[in-house]
Amino acid sequence: MSSATASKKTGKTAAAKSQKAGGGRGGEGVQNSHPIFTELGFSPDANNLYRQTVSSMLQAADLMNLPHHLKIILAQPKNEIMVHFPVRMDDGEFRMFKGYRVQHNNALGPYKGGLRFHHDVHLDDVKSLAFLMTMKCSLVGVPYGGGKGGIKVDPYKHSKSEMERIVRRFTAAIAHQIGPDYDIPAPDVGSNAQHMAWIADTYAFLSEVGGRHPEAVITGKPVEFGGSVGREKATGQGVVDTLAEMLPEIGVDMKGCKVSILGYGNVGSWTGRILQDRGAKIIAVMDHTGAIMNDHGIDAHALALHTSKVGGVAGFKNADTIDKTEFYSTKVDVFVPAALEQMIQEPEAKMLNCKVVAEGANAPTTPAGERVLEGRGIEVLPAILCNAGGVTVSYFEWVQNRTFQSWDLEHVDTELNKHMIRAAGRVRDARKKYKCNLRTAAYVGALERLRAAYEIRGLFP
Ligand code: GLU
Repeated sequence: MSSATASKKTGKTAAAKSQKAGGGRGGEGVQNSHPIFTELGFSPDANNLYRQTVSSMLQAADLMNLPHHLKIILAQPKNEIMVHFPVRMDDGEFRMFKGYRVQHNNALGPYKGGLRFHHDVHLDDVKSLAFLMTMKCSLVGVPYGGGKGGIKVDPYKHSKSEMERIVRRFTAAIAHQIGPDYDIPAPDVGSNAQHMAWIADTYAFLSEVGGRHPEAVITGKPVEFGGSVGREKATGQGVVDTLAEMLPEIGVDMKGCKVSILGYGNVGSWTGRILQDRGAKIIAVMDHTGAIMNDHGIDAHALALHTSKVGGVAGFKNADTIDKTEFYSTKVDVFVPAALEQMIQEPEAKMLNCKVVAEGANAPTTPAGERVLEGRGIEVLPAILCNAGGVTVSYFEWVQNRTFQSWDLEHVDTELNKHMIRAAGRVRDARKKYKCNLRTAAYVGALERLRAAYEIRGLFP
């Protein structure tokens, strides 16, 4: 049974039930209310992901006296695009698919953000993730706004040729809404470099006569076709860069520190491998196939090889199988949630036995979960800082595409590190100024840049 997926599912089911019952597994209750939710007609469900995500931003906006018009602009995406398209399956039958692209904000530059391929992706998920991209790009100082998209599809249940047709047909459906100067997608959960290559190729074909850099319409491409070295590991690298910057003030030494990781896909496995190379010990890992533990350390590289072969951590030889409760209760210094949203709710937060939560995933901690962590003195390194490495190296890829350059890994890593250190500095400064937690401080850092841009640009007409 898939523990990580089950948790996500349980969260959603519980959330849906709680809407009727007026309470929630996550104990979100009536918290996270704000007059703007009524003004804009937000879902009244306190477990709604979009409401939760925006509520954290509004806390920061209130603290820094952001003008009301900026609060309402940023609380809503600019465009929500939904498409339905038919694709021929290998057996000759047609199936309809649903795709999304949400363009949240472009005050600082073109919309930017990944494409999620998941059987359970919803408009609210995509809206929340697009919103987070606006905040992340602003905080980390790349000249982009925020967007996100996806296809409601389980990529592991389709043959390569079916996936190619699904991805190409989706690209055709949104081709007029994206572009190297307008909206630049990238990989996210369930999508990979091959998918990005098909999107770039389809887009280039459809826009043959326009633009000199059609492949710059998307990032996270294979290195052989316009991709950047260092992009594949970039989100994990950014998590480690953030930890290297923030751990000393929390009193944790990366060398020898103990780590547990939830989710061992791109972000989790790269974070694990790079942390191990920097002297940390990976003690426990859980994904949708199960949970494993070894107090002497799990070899993160061997585990990455294992998961790439069998599709999950279950069955890895040099570790014991544990259950979900044991996984969350394992004593570590750093816990890295690197799977899906809303996985750290109140019950998980109560079980965690760590000093720091480093959010490799987007929005993994619910507000109720966060209140528990805060009450227990556990520091949370927020996603918009901690996982900003991916989009930062996406930016480097886009720059290389548009200037016909090819950077080496050392250059990519050095530039990434500079961005991460600068972003961490912004968060630190905001925390000092407003005496708030790191999540609120990260939003303050992001909102400061957005406020400055709006002040200078003004609002049309
Ligand atoms: N999907 C990644 C994220 O959530 C990367 C986005 C990008 O590279 O544009 O940050």
